[in-house]
Amino acid sequence: MIRLDDGLLAALLERGVSRRSFLKFSAAMASALALPASYAPRIAAAVATAPRLPVIWLRGQDCAGNTEAFLRATSPTVSELVLDLLSVEYHETLMAPAGDAATLSRTTAMEMYPDGYVAIVEGGIPTADGGVHCTIGGRPFRDVVREVCDGALATIAVGSCAFDGGVPAARGGPTGAVGVAAVVPDGRLITLPGCPLNVVNLTATIVHYLTFKEFPPTDGRGRPLFAYGGLIHNQCERRAHFEFGEFALAWGDEGAQKGWCLYKLGCKGPEAFANCPTVRYGAGTSWTVKAGHGCVGCTMPGFWDAMTPAYQRLPPPVPFLPTIGVDNVGHALVAGVAALTVVHGSASIVRSSLARAGQRRGARTAAAPAEPIAPAEPIAPVEPIAPVEPIAIAAGLPDGPADVDPADTAAPSGSEVP
Ligand code: SF4
Repeated sequence: MIRLDDGLLAALLERGVSRRSFLKFSAAMASALALPASYAPRIAAAVATAPRLPVIWLRGQDCAGNTEAFLRATSPTVSELVLDLLSVEYHETLMAPAGDAATLSRTTAMEMYPDGYVAIVEGGIPTADGGVHCTIGGRPFRDVVREVCDGALATIAVGSCAFDGGVPAARGGPTGAVGVAAVVPDGRLITLPGCPLNVVNLTATIVHYLTFKEFPPTDGRGRPLFAYGGLIHNQCERRAHFEFGEFALAWGDEGAQKGWCLYKLGCKGPEAFANCPTVRYGAGTSWTVKAGHGCVGCTMPGFWDAMTPAYQRLPPPVPFLPTIGVDNVGHALVAGVAALTVVHGSASIVRSSLARAGQRRGARTAAAPAEPIAPAEPIAPVEPIAPVEPIAIAAGLPDGPADVDPADTAAPSGSEVP
């Protein structure tokens, strides 16, 4: 039987978190991680007895939106659970020390938990002009990130700016902002893009680690598949209106008031991957499209340049064919690949059938007894050539020259010499 009275749960109970809330939280985490509900007890057991995970939280070029999201975690009760899951050893916005004392807190935490802490990075990392556009304690932020992430168990880049530079990296930005992957290319990196990130995805990532002793599977850019594996468009509550051709055409028009699809007002849901429609924000109450605004694609690479203008559709993927959308292109590609697969498979089957038939024929030929070769007919002895009859010389003809062959003077067959 799972004992929930030890470790973390005991601390939570002291803070006023009820058992019911804790078990509800475990079920919510199983759901966020796209696991069956049967995983909830396992998550509860793992989290209840887990040691707190030390965290060093760095902030660079950002607006503190992800810190705000973190502080407003509501699963299950405000921030207690998140603050108890994590032992935040360093966070410039939240910590009391400042100046050298703050730097000392960071270096002390790194020594106390060698290879045992998680680095969380928020904000872009400027690289232009030697990194002078963002310094911490007089050092370029870039160097601090390298130092902290190099010794971390894993790094979690929270928000779009830490993902790939975000807004500071938009066209025309002077600071040369990049994401964490560009500065710490070899580290174990989890990315949670979004502007801001959804803190449920951060909590679920930590819970996955505490439960399974490994971080969740990710795509090629470090985004956990449980959170970024699905297209927003496919999870959206307005999708049925898209299928029926019911669109809002202007902000506040009848379609907008009826909750119709925002595609024609520039919604980027068909181009963006995230679980916003299912997890939502604000304790699961709402998200961008539910609130009446189109998705801006903030979880996607280079979204500030690639997904704008925010209120217009992106150019069609097939030039001059505005009605061809990404779904059509995707379906066409899938259909094409499927057709090629069928053709290739059929050709392979035919080829192997022919090869097998050839082998069978060869085997039969090899196995059949050879026809006995008929003995050769004895060759008939060559008839001796009869000696040429001397041609009678017609009487009365003058003698021919002595050297004329008598055969040359032979009469045509069937004729008689008169
Ligand atoms: Fe797709 Fe956006 Fe329409 Fe929702 S509102 S169905 S995400 S286009």
